[in-house]
Amino acid sequence: MNLTKYAPNLSIIENIQKGLEIGNRMANVIIKKRPFAVNYDITWQCNLRCNHCYFYSSAAELELGEINTRKELSDEQWINVFRYHRSLGVYSASITGGEPTLRMYLLHEAVNIFPSVQIATNGTIKIPYFKAKKQPILWVSLDGPKDLHNKIRGASIFDKVIKNIQDDKRVFISCTVSSQNYKEIEKVVEIAYDADVSGIFFLWYTGYDNDPLLLKGEKSKIAVGKILNVMKEYEDFIIFSKKMLELYISKEFVPHCFFRKKNRIHSYYPNGQQKFCVMGNSPKLCKNCGCIVPVAVYALRKFDRETINKLRRFPF
Ligand code: SF4
Ligand code: SF4
Repeated sequence: MNLTKYAPNLSIIENIQKGLEIGNRMANVIIKKRPFAVNYDITWQCNLRCNHCYFYSSAAELELGEINTRKELSDEQWINVFRYHRSLGVYSASITGGEPTLRMYLLHEAVNIFPSVQIATNGTIKIPYFKAKKQPILWVSLDGPKDLHNKIRGASIFDKVIKNIQDDKRVFISCTVSSQNYKEIEKVVEIAYDADVSGIFFLWYTGYDNDPLLLKGEKSKIAVGKILNVMKEYEDFIIFSKKMLELYISKEFVPHCFFRKKNRIHSYYPNGQQKFCVMGNSPKLCKNCGCIVPVAVYALRKFDRETINKLRRFPF
């Protein structure tokens, strides 16, 4: 297997430039007390109803009524929010939902306003190449081989998703590991590799204590073993480090999570209401959090060499 096409190729100068850029952004956050990044759930709508969806479970807690009756910001209002945050110096925006591609016009606008945009999508709607200085990064969900993915997502979408992502280097596969798919990790990686996308990373399923999808005990150990195996076999295609894996289990990162600290990362519901964090609206989720963002940030803060190397190809 030739993995050199995925090897990091940033030069020393590029690394220094990147370090200075992150330093400037951190100074903006700490001295001027401005957000480091923003996350927008731009729509309540989704064309799927996955059985593990944290968005709908957290949105249900808001008691805003049926999805179809809920208000969301208009295009103009969202664009004003984007521009306001950019004027504060925010560099990076992640766009989530619901399914953000249902508001494609806003994706186009966000890409033109922010220097760095990440879009989390279920992959059922092809995202075009935008007329912009920089293309967004696409985080596309894949939970298992065809039958399992379709079962988890509640619809026969697998073939369409693979067709939409094939050979698209903007794509990183996001695999949420839970009690329903932990045995299939190798298969998911193989499918992602064959689709010739840029890489794959893992999230640990997040939920409240009694949630049957949480990975516990022996299942968790098996998942860890499988991820270590694919990290060896697929090397730089796996955008994930041993330290990040260790943190998913220990939860050592939780008290230091950026979302828990004011003015670090702002997260918004489709109606413009600020959320507790990207995962939902309750600190009770922290105990079982498997979000990659605070894990990656904590590992970077510890100067973990493998994490630094892995994340060089993964722009926030
Ligand atoms: S595609 Fe995403 S937002 Fe839509 S139901 Fe599934 S997990 Fe939720
Ligand atoms: S649930 Fe996770 S991402 Fe959200 S505040 Fe808690 S630790 Fe941070």
